[in-house]
Amino acid sequence: MADSRLQDVSEAGKQAIESISDIPLYIDGTFTGAASNETFDNISPFTNTKINSVASGGGEDIEKAVKAARSAFNGEWGNLKLKERLNYIHKIADLIDEHIDEIAPLESYDTGLPLSQTKKMVARAAQNFRFYAEMVSSRLVGEVYQVDDDFINYTIHKPVGIAGLITPWNAPFMLETWKIAPALATGNTIVLKPAEWSPLTANRLAEIIDKAELPDGVFNVVHGFGETAGASLVSHPDVELISFTGETTTGAEIMKNGADSLKQFSMELGGKSPIIVFDDADIERALDACTWGIFSFNGERCTANSRLYVHENIAESFTKRLKERVHNIIVGDPMKTDTQVGPLIHTNHYENVKQYLELAEQEGCEVVSGTVPEEMKSGNFIAPTVLLNAGNSMRVVQEEVFGPVIAVMTFTDEEEVIEKANDVRYGLAGYVWTKDIQRGHRVAQKVDSGMLWVNSQNVRDLRTPFGGSKHSGIGREGGHYAFEFYTEVQIIHVALGDHHIPQFGK
Ligand code: NAD
Repeated sequence: MADSRLQDVSEAGKQAIESISDIPLYIDGTFTGAASNETFDNISPFTNTKINSVASGGGEDIEKAVKAARSAFNGEWGNLKLKERLNYIHKIADLIDEHIDEIAPLESYDTGLPLSQTKKMVARAAQNFRFYAEMVSSRLVGEVYQVDDDFINYTIHKPVGIAGLITPWNAPFMLETWKIAPALATGNTIVLKPAEWSPLTANRLAEIIDKAELPDGVFNVVHGFGETAGASLVSHPDVELISFTGETTTGAEIMKNGADSLKQFSMELGGKSPIIVFDDADIERALDACTWGIFSFNGERCTANSRLYVHENIAESFTKRLKERVHNIIVGDPMKTDTQVGPLIHTNHYENVKQYLELAEQEGCEVVSGTVPEEMKSGNFIAPTVLLNAGNSMRVVQEEVFGPVIAVMTFTDEEEVIEKANDVRYGLAGYVWTKDIQRGHRVAQKVDSGMLWVNSQNVRDLRTPFGGSKHSGIGREGGHYAFEFYTEVQIIHVALGDHHIPQFGK
């Protein structure tokens, strides 16, 4: 079916794509259809034709998955020695590495993200598992306090229980493993509800974890829609925590629906991140970072620098060169290695982004777009686009477009640009470009964002926290922050001798 598109794909990738079949749920160590027998179509973003069918899980399937997860938590998984548990985590990492050549092509095929970019992204998945296996070994005992001669007190970190993980379609494999690795390594059991628009690699992951032979019920995957499978997971009384990545409005709804069962939440939500370029910046590098930061991953990236604030002294030349770059970006089939921007995930999302472009024009922007080759017109392609003459109050500046679209504004001084950068409801990431090191630090600290890069783009170190402030999130993933989210702290007080115990009447 797909042969002519797969010339740049590894043999393993070709085979994985050519053997795509219908996707079941994975519950209690078994691949199975949905209780309702219902399925939904998984659609290619490149051709808008059906790739395969996916089992459409609902409340009954979530019920079974939670039951299996509880039984594993209270039984075999919960009783494993730490070393045995971590052996499983390493085994998953090894198996991911073994199959890495299949995963990136499957991801590109399913999501429209260019192959050269998914290859880099999925390579991090195995590292996530090894990183948390290492961390857990050294952190299960927390702080030790010797209160006085009579007592020693110490904290331990215990698994919370059943982790409900709900993930989006942009970078699905990486974002899923980012949650699964710390949740499993710390000893929880899992019910994963992947995004309905990108089920292929979630299913491959279930197959990989199945091969690692974890005890039944430790890891469960229930495909399905947010309003059915997702909502049932959130409201289930026996699920202790929800780690969610997705839109801000969905996050708010999930928090309401999970409130009755007092769940713990980690929320990684939307973004509208500023890139601020001062007139003393290294222009060439700032241009590279700005172009990459908004147009890589088709602009469907939570940390995308979708608002450019460029100092008025360099605005004309900077924007001229940004426009030139837009025209040179290669838009095409995500399965080709030279493609830089592929089709957006789904026609609904494509229509949304197109509406934002129309709105930008109505709001007074000059819309400058690159080109989409004629033969690509059947896919959900949006050409890389620069919105000139944008203003902070416009909807295209305030709202997350989540496509290859950057709004350009100018500024004259530091105070003004900080005010503008902070004048949105989001606070996920930010980028500052200047050669003045004092200004770099000063501005960085004043921008309201969970993450801020100075003279850099979105590079990540697994040890560092990831997440947003304001409407971009609650809590942090990554590093010891994820370790803490997936564990419960217990303080143990131990008497060292026969200290005084109060007695009634004495
Ligand atoms: P989305 O909110 O539409 O869906 C995310 C997931 O939530 C899907 O699995 C969906 O089925 C599920 N869902 C939807 N409604 C639900 C409900 N009522 N109850 C339970 N689950 C429900 O988001 P999306 O369109 O898949 O992803 C794009 C969004 O994700 C963007 O806003 C992007 O910025 C954000 N994102 C944030 C980060 C971050 O780290 N902050 C990372 C990646 C993506």
